[in-house]
Amino acid sequence: MNGKDLIIDTFRLTPKQRAALLKLHLKTVRDLLYHFPTRYENISNIIRIKELKEGDEAIIYGRLEDLKTRKAFRSRRPIAEGYICDETGRMKIIWFNQPYIAKMYAVDVPVKVVGKVGGEKGKLYLPNPEVEQLPGLPLEGDDSLFQTNGTTETLFPIYPESTGITSKWFHHATKKVLVDEFLKTIDDPIPQEILNRYHLPSLQSALVWMHAPQNSNHAKSARKRFAFEEIFYIQLERWRDKNERIHKNAFRIDIEKKELQTFIDRFPFKATKAQLKAIDSIIKDLKSGHAMARLLEGDVGSGKTAVAASTVYAIATTSPLRADGTRQDFGRLQTAYMVPTEILAKQHFESFITFFEHMPINIGLITGSSCKKFPSKVDKTKATHISRAQLLKWIGNGEIPIVIGTHALIQKTVAFENLAYVIIDEQHRFGTMQRHELLRKDNIAPHLLSMTATPIPRTLALTMYGDLDLTVLDEMPAGRKPIVTEIVYPKERPLVYEKVRKELEAGRQVYVICPRIEEPDPEKEQALNVKSVVEESLRLKKDVFPEYKIEYLHSKMKPKEKEDTMRDFANNTTHILVATSVVEVGVNVPNATVIIIEGAERFGLAQLHQLRGRVLRSTNQAYCFVFADAKSKTTQERLRAFKTAKNGFELAEFDLSIRGGGELYGRNQSGLSDIGMEALKNIKMVEAARSEAEEMITTDPKLANHPLLKERAEEKRTHLHFE
Ligand code: ADP
Ligand code: MG
Repeated sequence: MNGKDLIIDTFRLTPKQRAALLKLHLKTVRDLLYHFPTRYENISNIIRIKELKEGDEAIIYGRLEDLKTRKAFRSRRPIAEGYICDETGRMKIIWFNQPYIAKMYAVDVPVKVVGKVGGEKGKLYLPNPEVEQLPGLPLEGDDSLFQTNGTTETLFPIYPESTGITSKWFHHATKKVLVDEFLKTIDDPIPQEILNRYHLPSLQSALVWMHAPQNSNHAKSARKRFAFEEIFYIQLERWRDKNERIHKNAFRIDIEKKELQTFIDRFPFKATKAQLKAIDSIIKDLKSGHAMARLLEGDVGSGKTAVAASTVYAIATTSPLRADGTRQDFGRLQTAYMVPTEILAKQHFESFITFFEHMPINIGLITGSSCKKFPSKVDKTKATHISRAQLLKWIGNGEIPIVIGTHALIQKTVAFENLAYVIIDEQHRFGTMQRHELLRKDNIAPHLLSMTATPIPRTLALTMYGDLDLTVLDEMPAGRKPIVTEIVYPKERPLVYEKVRKELEAGRQVYVICPRIEEPDPEKEQALNVKSVVEESLRLKKDVFPEYKIEYLHSKMKPKEKEDTMRDFANNTTHILVATSVVEVGVNVPNATVIIIEGAERFGLAQLHQLRGRVLRSTNQAYCFVFADAKSKTTQERLRAFKTAKNGFELAEFDLSIRGGGELYGRNQSGLSDIGMEALKNIKMVEAARSEAEEMITTDPKLANHPLLKERAEEKRTHLHFE
């Protein structure tokens, strides 16, 4: 057997299992071995249902059945009940006074149930047990497991299941693969001396310890190795990027300080010190002759756009003539400014028009649905719609030096004449791949500015953006009052609406954020009690704020509808905007001072912080009211942190510390596996992987002496993309 062998050639599989493996993106035997258990259960003290007696402390692994709620006979108190089943039988469960529990779990999901067995008239049941949903079941139908050997710890791996394939299947499959003949054939991509330096096990040991640990130390050690491995691969790619860029030429941008200052002075506000400092360090980079690669990190509302615009000005006004009168060998320099959503692209286009309207400079807008150019031939003060073909032509011949757009900017058909500067706004919304696609094919690298408001923990920044230099905007524009954040309990809802009404009466506007677009189809999904944009806007119109104009906004609307809705809100025709988290990024309506967030437990802390930032746009006092349905301890804790945290970075570190790895920022955005995410909790490990990668790329830039390492790192890169 070989790691490259296909799973379908190695195991006999049912069609369902094949489909499940496909869904999990597992193709080869190596994929299978890197599909790690998410946890281990110590099953040495387990008793199966059939053997349980009254008074036993039961730990049962099984599935729930027949969940329902009813009222107790005499007291009329609400009760939730159901059954827990393992392969030896089933036992009744009763939750007193917690009727919602019956709705919290789906029938048939794997769970671990812990509680003390009670009895009534000879019938056993579990009163108020703790239930924990598991990714899979450890020992369904596997009797051999009960011959525990008297040790206190018998660890059993639990793998993330998918419909059609059980945790148990993975257990047996990996056992079948991990035999000596196979283990002897595999090569460890990581050099021995690195493993030694950090006391990490070899690949062979780590695989065995991961899938069949004899004790928890083995499992820990294996996880540590794979975490290091993943971060190391990413770091290698980052350093290769960086190394490559350093060796490319870049346009040398020279701008007089005074000239730049006149541009900055035209802003309708006084730039903060932090903004000036950021502009300064970018201008320095642009002068150096090497391609800049910088991450500008600043909390929502810290004014990143103005920083970007000032530096775009430097690029756009750089003369093709050198100071000594000779011609530089390029024409008008161009900037590509990429943002994640159409709404945002349009908004930036509008802002850039005001920044540059005093100059003879063309600005283009390109999104999936439309293209625009400023100024229009007919009316020099306005923008005009133009065809895509026309815009592409003007980008291609350099007539449009500033192009703002969405993903549409990086399509192959968009060819710049002289791309000198790439700005990626809300970088966290894109993957690292996009960073590459905007790079030029010739030997000149455009300068790159990535911007993000997502406060990310330091370890994640070092991992995802390890090749970038960092500038932080750590100062808010003057006069901004901190947002008043309140966690609201259901019975206080009317009170909140009264406060909101006062703001509306004062002429302010309100966002209401809901987790869903429409009510779920009860046939298809579990009837989750989650507010939806469509229903909530109807309800608010009918029952709460009939005298105000309410509209809604979500991602499934047509671009034109979205645009109209946004415009109505921006010019205060609409007073309340009910929306999904599409307004999360960058949308700017200074007159909106209230944001109500429904179902807050469904959003990540970073996302909540972004949402709250929508109302940090003016000097008026802003409010954020947070409704949460889940009452779990973690939810409470997270919301409390949300209320008190001084800035986004604090929140990010907090989120990292309490949330399970995989939940953080979603896998889509980082491309990290669960185990890679775990590694982020360990700054020492991330720094070690980083310095080892730097060392290796410095001595062996193309990884020519480490072919296997090169292969793995490159594979990792293709996985690390935004979906
Ligand atoms: P973000 O960093 O979130 O992208 P923006 O660039 O959108 O923030 O700026 C948020 C708002 O603050 C905008 O309305 C902008 O005009 C304003 N702004 C930016 N810089 C300053 C400043 N120095 N003083 C006052 N207002 C500013
Ligand atoms: Mg912004």
